[in-house]
Order: sequence, then structure tokens, then C-alpha cells
Amino acid sequence: MDSTRSNSSDHLDQHIKLEEIRLLYGGTPFSYTASIVIALIIYNILIGHAASQQNLNVWLFIILSVLFIRSIDSYRFSKRTKQQQLDSSWRIRFFIGTGIAGFSWGLLPWLGYSAEVEYFSFILVCLVGVIAGSLSTLAYRWETLALFLLPASVLLILRLLIEDKNFFTATSFVLLVFIFFSLSAGRKIFNNTQQNIRLRLEADSRERAIELMHQKQALHLQNTPLAIIEFDIDLNVTEWNKAAETIFGYSHTEAIDENIMRLILSRDSSIEAEKLWQRLLNYEAVTGTVIENKKKSKEPIFCEWFVTPLTDEKNEIVGIAAMALDITEKKQNELAIIKSKEEAEKANQAKSDFLSSMSHELRTPLNAILGFTQLLKYEKTLTDKQQSHISEISNAGNLLLELVNQILDLARIEKGHLQLSMEKIALADCFKEVRAMVSPLAEKNDLTLDINIENNGYVVADYTRLKQVMLNLLSNAIKYNIEHGSVCLKAFQKDNDIVRISVIDSGKGISQEQLQEIFLPFSRLNAASSIEGTGIGLSISKQLVEMMNGSIGVSSTVNEGSEFWIELTGNLNITAASEPEKMTSPPSHSLVSESTANHTILVAEDNPTNQTLIMSQLEALGYTAELVENGQEALNKMVNTDYQLLLTDCNMPLLDGYKLAQTIRERGDHELPIVALTADAFPEKKAECLKAGMTDHITKPVDLQTLKDTLEKYLS
Ligand code: ADP
Repeated sequence: MDSTRSNSSDHLDQHIKLEEIRLLYGGTPFSYTASIVIALIIYNILIGHAASQQNLNVWLFIILSVLFIRSIDSYRFSKRTKQQQLDSSWRIRFFIGTGIAGFSWGLLPWLGYSAEVEYFSFILVCLVGVIAGSLSTLAYRWETLALFLLPASVLLILRLLIEDKNFFTATSFVLLVFIFFSLSAGRKIFNNTQQNIRLRLEADSRERAIELMHQKQALHLQNTPLAIIEFDIDLNVTEWNKAAETIFGYSHTEAIDENIMRLILSRDSSIEAEKLWQRLLNYEAVTGTVIENKKKSKEPIFCEWFVTPLTDEKNEIVGIAAMALDITEKKQNELAIIKSKEEAEKANQAKSDFLSSMSHELRTPLNAILGFTQLLKYEKTLTDKQQSHISEISNAGNLLLELVNQILDLARIEKGHLQLSMEKIALADCFKEVRAMVSPLAEKNDLTLDINIENNGYVVADYTRLKQVMLNLLSNAIKYNIEHGSVCLKAFQKDNDIVRISVIDSGKGISQEQLQEIFLPFSRLNAASSIEGTGIGLSISKQLVEMMNGSIGVSSTVNEGSEFWIELTGNLNITAASEPEKMTSPPSHSLVSESTANHTILVAEDNPTNQTLIMSQLEALGYTAELVENGQEALNKMVNTDYQLLLTDCNMPLLDGYKLAQTIRERGDHELPIVALTADAFPEKKAECLKAGMTDHITKPVDLQTLKDTLEKYLS
């Protein structure tokens, strides 16, 4: 900043110097001509009266020579460029020339001396005139004036003093006073001149700067991509730049004095424009408002507007200044992105719908496969080999069921349909339950299972989903372990309110590259061929944990083992109310319940295979049941017979399970237990069944034990 200021003041000083020297040299034609004329007149008058004619000749010669040499110098100066004129040699030469000229004029009383008083007085007057005249041409530089005045006047005064006559003494005194005032007048003129030069130069440079600014503004105004438009209070256009012409298609002449609204506002945007106008009338500047406009060709465009009211000295709005940027392309891109996002969402939705309907469809045949397999397991006449084949079918069926369930989960998470019920869960309960579930698998694989159930604390999670995640991690730790390896489940307090649950195994471990993709769906790493699995468990676990506001991670060393952990809000030092232990009936050796014979069950099921299955299952459990094919038939049957329980499929022709339950309840029968059999595994389905008036819900494939427990629960 300072350096800029000092630069510009240096620049000004240079200009002043140049101006001075040009003024000094510029005055010479006039002053030299005057000097020649005066010198010739003096010479002419003094001829015959000077003390020595020869001296007078010498004086004239000196004066004319000095003037001649200085004229040549002035001429040479006038031919130089400005830059060359700034050279200090011109200044020095002028100073020396002025000094010599002053000295030459000072020689007049000495060389042109006349003893006659009137002629001497004439010399005196002439010299005083020359000295006074020098004021006008030399005052541009104070030193030059002094250089001329001093030798001229000092020599004159000396001459007067040497004569030593009263007349001369008094005259020398007056001369001294004159010289003093001349010098001080010269000084003042010099100061004023300096000031004038400075002011003029400054004004010039300011004028040039303003001119430049105007030029730049005009250039920007014409070349900016922003349409710059001004209009008066009646909305008539007063300013319309090049960009406005390009954007809206109207030329300057076409637009000026036209109503801005009529010109560029599309009908659809009139409400927005009205709002904008109201804001402007409230003296508000509007920035970044996007309005749909129209071009001369009626083609719609989108513009982003920056508008401000223009006011007069009384603060009354006299017009509007507006800038508009054509953002049609940006807007179209945005719309295209939104459209493609919608399309992607639609495609995703279609995929999710496909997945859920496919898994639903798969559940129906799976119901038959697993159901009949389970029934066959109780068949006493089968050989060991046949039993082993049945086990294989059952295992494969269960794996398929797991896959179907996981795909359903994935689809539901993606659709955003998965709802969690977050609560404080006593870790001891959860650990106990998962231990019971994974112990048989660990035993089968000959692994040590270490699950510490002595936890007091709690975590905040959805109970079912937390169990699902822990089971996934534990079953992986068992599946991907080595012979005689170990699996450990433990929990510890990580931060104030964060609990980390870790599943540590002594398995083969996972390499760093594989860890990058371990949570991606369907990534089975290198386990694909050797160990059964679907590759979606961890991806679902991650999404579930994140939905429960937690995080999941893994660290692993190849050939040493892995640690999968989840972190959830919780505290290990605060005891959460533990759920009363559920009384799960021990698996009975005999399927047939003690008192089944007296109960009549009505089954409503439309699918023939499922009909055979459920009837066989009920028979195996020792129940007698009647079968109908839909809800309407069920209602007909119920007119004549009192049933103790109704097992109904949900989706059936004529009258589905929901409507059937609803009608039964509406008819006033609130006692009959109605149990839904549905292929839909969604919890929402259960809620829907209960809402329709059903008592309970069994998901297909129907597990024999579950069916037995449910029937006993409602028939006992
Ligand atoms: P799945 O076990 O059905 O294949 P997951 O999503 O649960 O699917 O796991 C994905 C992959 O991560 C597995 O196929 C396996 O290769 C690897 N993996 C998971 N847990 C472990 C573990 N404890 N040790 C080694 N590899 C594991």
C-alpha cells in the first residue's frame, strides 16, 4: 500500500519536473526576442554617450552571443522526447545559461557606462525592466530567478556604489529593496506555479483514471455474461446490455422503453415476480432468486436474478437495477439429475419389490420341503441311510430359508421398511440366549465357546436385531474357524456410554485387502467353495448396527484369527431390568400331546401342497382338523360347527384370512383363537394380522415344534 503511494508520488514529482523544465524552455522564444530588442535599443541609445564605444560593442556582442547559444539550446530541447527532456543535463544547462545571462546584463552598467546622469538612469531603468521581465519567464523555478537576478543586480549595485554619489546611493538602496521584493515575489510566483502544476497534473491524472474507469465499466457492461438491465418505476427498460441481448434475444433498441414484465416474464412466473416486486418496493435487495423467463422466441429459460432498487436523494425509488444470469443449462442438468435419481430409485424399488416377492414365492415351496422333511424325520420305518438323506435335504432347505430371509431383510432395509424398537437390553439375557443357540454348532465343530454371561450392564438396541447381529458374528466365528479352535464373546466399556461387544475367534483370519470388502453384500471372499454361506450376513449386520446408532468393525491377522466388534450406546456398570426367563418347553421326545383328541381345528388354506402339509403336521401332532379352501367356506362351516381353533392362510381367493378374522370378530366371536399361517416373515405382517382380529401368527415354513407349542398354548 505504502509502496504504491510512494510510487505514485514519485511519478507525480517526475511530471512536475518535466512540466517545469518545459515551461522554462517554453518561455525562451518570447524572452529572448524581447532581450534582443531591448539590447539593440539600449545599444542604439547609448551610441555616442557611453564612456567607451568599444566596451558597448563588447557588451552587445556578449548579450547577443549568449542569447544565440541559449536559443540553439532551446531549439534542441524542443526536439527531444519527454523522456529525454527529463534528463538533468537540460536543467543544469538552463541554470548555467540563466546565470551567464544575468551576469551579461549585469555588465551593462560597467561596459555601457555613461557619465551623463540621464543615460546612466536610462541604463538603470532598462536593467530594472529586464530584471522585472525575468520574473514572468523564470519564476517557474525559484533557483533560476535567483541565478538571473543576483549577478545582474549585484553588478549593478556594485557599479552604483563605486560611483559613490548620493543619487546613486539612494538608488542602490531602492534597488536593493526592489531586488528583495522581486525575489520574494518570484518565490511566491514559484510556489503558486508549483501548486498549479501539481493540481493540474493531479486533476489530469484523476480525469484519466475516471475516463479509464468509465471505459472499463463500459467494457465490462458490454462483455459480462450477466444481463445488466435497468428499468424505471413504470417497469420500462432504460438500460439493456449486450448480454441481455444474447440471453433474451431482444436488441437494445427493441428493449429500451418496453415493459420488462411483458418482454421477458413467462406467465408461470408472475406470482414469483409479484413477490419480488413487493420486496423491492420495501427497499430490499433481492439476490439469487431463480425465475423462469422467456426469450423473444418464446423459448423458456431460467435466470438467476440479483435486483436492487435505485433511489433518489429523497430516498424515493426511481428505478430498478437488475443483473440476470442464464442458468438454464444448470437447471436442466439439475432436473436431469433429479430425474435420473428418481429413475434409479424406481429401479431400486423394483429390485427390492422383486426380491421380496421372489423370496415370498420361494417360501411357499420351501414350506412344503421343510415341513414334509420334518415329518419324515419322525418316520420310524426309515433306514439310517434314508434318515441321513433327509437330514441333507433339511440342511439344504434351511440354508435356502436363511438366504431367503436375509434377502428379505436386505430388501426391507433398502426400502426403508425395517422398523426397530429401541430399548435397554440386559446383556446377560442376550448373551445367554445366543449361547444357547450357538452352543450345538460349536460342539459339532469341536470348538471351545467362551461366552461370559455375568454382565450387569445394558445396551440400547432392538432386541431381535441385536441377537441377529450377534448370531451372525458368532456363527461366522464358528464356521470360519480351525479345528479345535476357540470362539469368545465378551463385552467391555469403551467410553462413558459406549459398550463394545467383541466376537474373537482363532480362525484363519482375513487379509487386509479382503477386509476392505468384507461388509459389501454378496462378498464371500475366499470361502465361497468350501463353507456354506450367502455373503450377505455381514452387510445386513452393518446396516442393522448403524440403524441402531452403533458402529461395526473388524481387525484380523491371517492365521491367527479375527475380532469382529460392534459398539452401541450402553453401560456395563448399570443394571438393566432383565426379562423374566421365558419358559421354553424342553423339546419333547413324543410329538403327540396328551390331550389333543377332543379339539376340533378348522384349517383354511388354498394351496394344495400346503393343505396336505398342514393336515399331515396336525395329524402327526395328534389333532383332528377339517379343511376348507378359503375364508368364505370357513364362515359357512362355522355356522354349524363350534371349532376350538382356526388356522388360516392370509392370502386366499374369495375371502382372505384378514377379512375372515374381521368378520368372525364382527359377528361377536371374540373367544375363538385365530392363528395366521403366512409366508410373509415381516413383523408388519404380524401387526396386520393382530389388527384384523387374529390371535397369533406362525411364519411358513411351519416348524412342527412351533406349531405344537402354539396349539398347546391356545387349546390348553
Ligand atoms: P457368509 O458367512 O454367509 O458367507 P457373511 O456376510 O456373514 O456371509 O460373511 C462374508 C464373508 O466374510 C464370509 O464369506 C467369509 O469369507 C468372511 N468372514 C466372515 N466372518 C469371518 C471370520 N470370523 N473369519 C474369517 N472370515 C470371515
